[in-house]
Amino acid sequence: MPKVNICVKESKGKVALTDFDLPDPGPGQALIRTTLTTICGSDIHIMSDIDDVPAGTPMGHEAVGVVEAVGEGVESFAPGDRVVTSCLVSCGHCDRCVDGEYQICSTFGSPMNLLFGAQADAYLMNGAEYSMAKIPDGMDDRHALFASDVMSTGFAAIERAGIREGQTVAIFAQGAVGLCATAAAKHYGAGVIIAVESIPQRVEMSKRLGADYVVSPGEAINEIMKHTAAAGVDIAVEALGKQETLENCCRVTRLAAQIARRQYGRLDLTLDVIEHH
Ligand SMILES: [Zn+2]
Ligand SMILES: [Zn+2]
Repeated sequence: MPKVNICVKESKGKVALTDFDLPDPGPGQALIRTTLTTICGSDIHIMSDIDDVPAGTPMGHEAVGVVEAVGEGVESFAPGDRVVTSCLVSCGHCDRCVDGEYQICSTFGSPMNLLFGAQADAYLMNGAEYSMAKIPDGMDDRHALFASDVMSTGFAAIERAGIREGQTVAIFAQGAVGLCATAAAKHYGAGVIIAVESIPQRVEMSKRLGADYVVSPGEAINEIMKHTAAAGVDIAVEALGKQETLENCCRVTRLAAQIARRQYGRLDLTLDVIEHH
């Protein structure tokens, strides 16, 4: 593999492009030639907020590309396949993976199983058999890219809350992940979806994706209780990552409700479901 250009953390608050010699894929790895990548909120934390991510760390975990080569043991993919890679890398064999909790794989989970280095001409994908998927013909890269992180995170919030048809859902914040949670709630047949957001473009997108009501953060508790006849919602999603919003989730949920929250201790990439009451 020739030298590739890769984006790295240069110093706190600063990234730079550098040359990098990418080795051939080892056992379980695939070499992916990047065709599209993007910037995540987590990249901003890695670059600016998290001091123990050292300078030189390769940036980026959301990408789609074409398989260039595969290492030993990778049988489901071949050179030329268009793939979307998961932002969370899993081995398929550890106790967590066997439990179906691929997103917290312990093999690649030290300190966490986040993919690094996708903002590059090419990158090596660990756990290739379990951590990537072929892109269907006819789907373009811009759409497939969502499956690498934001869509799967938003959908996971709703799926892990065990949504049943007709349930009421409140989703706090309509950034990329929150919007995907709104789309997921709609997809799984939520009865009433109440989104909390004030930025006009996000409000509009939230309604397009299925929100029945979009309420402003300052009025969220009153409005949610009003739209649920003072009962509270069955599911609340904390898609912002703030203590205050998590507390507000507790205030608007009914008995035996579920709360899905962004978990900043793990770089906000996993969503935990807390059984409430
Ligand atoms: Zn991300
Ligand atoms: Zn694993």
